[in-house]
Amino acid sequence: MHIQRHLFFFLLFILLLAGACRQFSPFQSFISENGTNYSLLIRNGLILDGSGAPPRAGDVLVRGDTILYTGEVDTSLISVEQTIDAGGRYISPGFIDTHAHGDPLETPAFENFLAMGATTICLGQDGESPLLEDIRNWMQQVDSVGPGVNIAMFVGHGALRELSGTAYKPEPTPPEMARMEQLLNDALDAGCFGLTTGLEYTPGLYAGEEELLALARVVGRHNGLIMSHVRNEDNDAIEASLRELLRQGQYCNVQVSHLKVVFGKGKERAEDILALLEEARSNSRFSVTADLYPYTASYTGIGIVFPQWAKPPNDYEKVKRERREELLDFLRRKVMARNGPEATLFGTKPYAGKTLAQLSAEQGRPFEEVLLDIGPAGASGAYFVMDEALQARLLADAHVMVCSDGSPTMHHPRGYGSFARIIETYVQKEQLLSLPEAVRKMTSLPAQTLGLADRGLIKPGYRADLLVFDPENVKATATFPDPHRLAEGMEWVVVNGRVAFRGGQAKTRNGRVLRK
Ligand SMILES: [Zn+2]
Repeated sequence: MHIQRHLFFFLLFILLLAGACRQFSPFQSFISENGTNYSLLIRNGLILDGSGAPPRAGDVLVRGDTILYTGEVDTSLISVEQTIDAGGRYISPGFIDTHAHGDPLETPAFENFLAMGATTICLGQDGESPLLEDIRNWMQQVDSVGPGVNIAMFVGHGALRELSGTAYKPEPTPPEMARMEQLLNDALDAGCFGLTTGLEYTPGLYAGEEELLALARVVGRHNGLIMSHVRNEDNDAIEASLRELLRQGQYCNVQVSHLKVVFGKGKERAEDILALLEEARSNSRFSVTADLYPYTASYTGIGIVFPQWAKPPNDYEKVKRERREELLDFLRRKVMARNGPEATLFGTKPYAGKTLAQLSAEQGRPFEEVLLDIGPAGASGAYFVMDEALQARLLADAHVMVCSDGSPTMHHPRGYGSFARIIETYVQKEQLLSLPEAVRKMTSLPAQTLGLADRGLIKPGYRADLLVFDPENVKATATFPDPHRLAEGMEWVVVNGRVAFRGGQAKTRNGRVLRK
């Protein structure tokens, strides 16, 4: 009897101990709260969580569009619809492209972005967004089409000018200004993440200080972000252009789009620019950030080499007739200052793939006459105007993130290669960035800057935008002659919990319009 009683207490003790141990297993206590059915498990990976922390071995468990658990998963305790074996490769959050182009109603697949690991793109750039008084319908339309990637929308300042009737006027009337503020306010209420400006383009270039500050105050009230293609990116004008944006930074978060110093050279020149941004950052309660694409050629309309007086609302035909010599002289000097006609590579038909120098030789006349005929709206091209050492130093800065500034159709390799090139060239080859830091720049840094509270990290509660890759296999294969080649090496790309890209091909289109 005595012995039986001891045995009873002993067994009871063992049972209690077992129960206590059960509570000590984090995965067991997790499933006791969350159940045993899940949609996706990525196992056997090295998790780069996006924070910049070193990788750690583990699994990522997803239900629907949400990451529920990271760490060691005991597969015998759960049922999962799809299991991906990462085979010791890295698992990271999907990349966030803060400056992209493209029309989700025209080319919703956005395979170019998925192939390089970008699962969220920011549209409405350089002052251009759909000319709509109410963006909500457009957002719903895009959602029903189903884009391949998530889309964070910005309102374009140029669109505000058009919609308010300000258009090309230097100064809006008070009612027009009030209208712009109202339209901006409504778009931010509808879920846009901020305002973009394109002050080197029409109509943005007509805007003055007061207008831009008034709009910055509206953005600030929504805790939004102004992303700006600044007024002039040339070496002798970049500081003044940045200061103009930084003054708006008294009222809201600001981001320099595709940061570059056209014709600038060397690491030291980059340090000047970074010091200016750092000083503004330390004096502001708002964030001061920048993005850039990792190529030394820009890409834009040929209008970039034309004077303001040859662009709308001025009539180009009239300018050509009345100020021909003056215009030829301007074009000659401008192109020579931009590294000459060899450094301009056309990207649009019928000149695609030819440099301005080649066209000039083919036609047997000076390049400025070729340009005069093409006109400011007649072509787009790539311009080899940046310095590798300077741009690399900008990229290394902790507040600089990565963008593509590309689209599915643009004739520049950046739309297909940027994010892959960061890993291939700046992590693997040049070791300018560690892999965790590069991933941070492409995930949590943009997410925090945009105010995307549930993306950019691998963490329970965050949306399941996930990549599986081996950095040694990541390659940007697009080139200037052949710019539409998909990047290689992203083995699995998951958007909102579903496989969106695999084996070099888009699978499901599971993106959505994000609302702030
Ligand atoms: Zn731009």
